[in-house]
Amino acid sequence: MDKIAKLNQRAKPPSAPRVGGTAGARPSRTEAEDAVRTLIRWAGDNPDREGLVGTPARVARAYEEWFSGNFENPQEYLQRTFEEVAGYDEIVLLRDIRFESHCEHHMAPIIGRAHIGYLPRDRVVGISKLVRLVDVYARRLQVQEKMTAEVAKCLNVVLKPFGVGVVVEATHECMTTRGVHRPEVSMVTSCMLGSFRTHAETRNEFLAAINLKGAVRRNNVD
Ligand SMILES: [Zn+2]
Repeated sequence: MDKIAKLNQRAKPPSAPRVGGTAGARPSRTEAEDAVRTLIRWAGDNPDREGLVGTPARVARAYEEWFSGNFENPQEYLQRTFEEVAGYDEIVLLRDIRFESHCEHHMAPIIGRAHIGYLPRDRVVGISKLVRLVDVYARRLQVQEKMTAEVAKCLNVVLKPFGVGVVVEATHECMTTRGVHRPEVSMVTSCMLGSFRTHAETRNEFLAAINLKGAVRRNNVD
């Protein structure tokens, strides 16, 4: 068993997915592996040939990592970790948070970067928590627009800052490796809340800092 699978087993009870995250009980590992065998046959290959014998088990373990966000509550996580702001009243910005997610339409990888800014009211979180926040939402079946809004709203609810801005840029392998086959295309989404939405100055400061002003304007922030 690899290290990550062990970590996931320790951190997340497999029988307790997030509310609304599953329809009915979670299937057993054997059922999951059988489903992978079915997909291999559907792809026209033989799941019993030597090279594929261990694949269903490996795919099940990979799913534990890729979709571990279904077993975590980012709000509870952030709530435990805030610190007093001690007079700091400028934007807190973390940019280029790389993430890997999967689109909910094709279960194909979405690879990208998130940029998060907020104007604290009276609490801040450690930067590693912002990375974890992105990871929790990325490690679910996603739509980029939804993920962008979820990260922003979670920070907004827990920290109650004056404003939050989240910009996500990503490439979608369902577009680059199939369908329209356009590897050069990346998608940019943004969610601006509070003063990031109402004050152009704050928003522009954030967008200038992440160097994406033009791209986000094209996507119509307002
Ligand atoms: Zn897709």
